[in-house]
Amino acid sequence: MSKSWRAATQLVHGGTTRSQHGETAEAIFLTQGFVYDTSAAAEARFKGETDGFIYARYGSPTNDMFEKRMCLLEGAEDARATASGMAAVTAAILCQLKAGDHIVAARALFGSCRWVVETLAPKYGIECTLVDGRDLSNWERAIQKNTKVFFLESPTNPTLEVIDIAGVAKLANQIGAKVVVDNVFATPLFQKPLELGAHVVVYSATKHIDGQGRCLGGVVLSDKEWINEHLHDYFRHTGPAMSPFNAWTLLKGIETLPLRVKQQTENASRIADFLAEQKQVASVIYPGRKDHPQADIVAKQMTGGSTLVCFELKGGKEAAFALQDALEVVKISNNLGDAKSLITHPATTTHKNLTDEARAELGMSAGTVRFSAGIEDSEDLLEDFSRALSKVNA
Ligand SMILES: *Cc1c(COP(=O)(O)O)cnc(C)c1O
Repeated sequence: MSKSWRAATQLVHGGTTRSQHGETAEAIFLTQGFVYDTSAAAEARFKGETDGFIYARYGSPTNDMFEKRMCLLEGAEDARATASGMAAVTAAILCQLKAGDHIVAARALFGSCRWVVETLAPKYGIECTLVDGRDLSNWERAIQKNTKVFFLESPTNPTLEVIDIAGVAKLANQIGAKVVVDNVFATPLFQKPLELGAHVVVYSATKHIDGQGRCLGGVVLSDKEWINEHLHDYFRHTGPAMSPFNAWTLLKGIETLPLRVKQQTENASRIADFLAEQKQVASVIYPGRKDHPQADIVAKQMTGGSTLVCFELKGGKEAAFALQDALEVVKISNNLGDAKSLITHPATTTHKNLTDEARAELGMSAGTVRFSAGIEDSEDLLEDFSRALSKVNA
């Protein structure tokens, strides 16, 4: 096992441990507990004097392989695998805060992430200020004496806004606050928040990491010090642990992450360029096109475009529904990062709980559509969009 291996190699071999049988594929250890040879061995394990597992809520062998592989990919010292992306986000936020603390978060967040900071945290006396994260001066102005955490997602869902992670981290370091980045949209391949100065990275492994629409999962990654001080006890005692079955599925999924993300990005990029030329389309936002509103920040902090495309149809909701209903290869679904191409109308699905005003703030209209590129042949996707758009009035 070498730390210097490149991502594609780590994703196939990193973190693997083998049982006495020497199996090729990672083994699945579906066990709740572990037995000890002697009472003294149990005592030593509990005291932390010997290494080994104690109880699957704390950690288990298949989950451990997944966590180690994710650490190697991310360049993190330690990680905890969680049952879902939201379990990861909630743990990362709550484990380090107490009543009287303050969070500054970018307002363009995945719906449930926004609920955690805007609605849940205040119930426990944790204040939250939401800002337009694109402008660093908004982060600076929102800082209070009790600000402990900055939370952001970049690119954002669904309008693919980009936030200057290094800039936010610099501000946080001036006041000793921690930056938590939800890196789902960028994928661990195209953006390295820890290298940019963030302290904690979270993923919904449900998306590109599984990549085949099977399991929920999440992961929190950071340095050993932060995990030991904040996450370790929270994780053990509140129980957001991932099922070993899901850890096994995700370990197999992640082997092909670079191949899938490459094809998805090529497909997304071709579809973005195609859509930008169509008379029914008012605008296309794609981090990878020169006309992305923050192309300079994309170039600075991302090494690839995106597997998602956001675009606006001139004909509003009626046009969006007509397009979605006419597509055949592309399926209507609110998920993303899947091998299958998926399309969603955020205003009536993922972002239906926001007011019209809040949606407008995020650059979302009734004609906004989010496309998640799959790994199909791009010619079939182009033909599908071309045929479906012909049924949409300009
Ligand atoms: C899907 C998603 C989540 C939540 O993940 P689950 O696995 O569905 O709980 C959080 N953040 C972002 C950006 C997501 O896309």
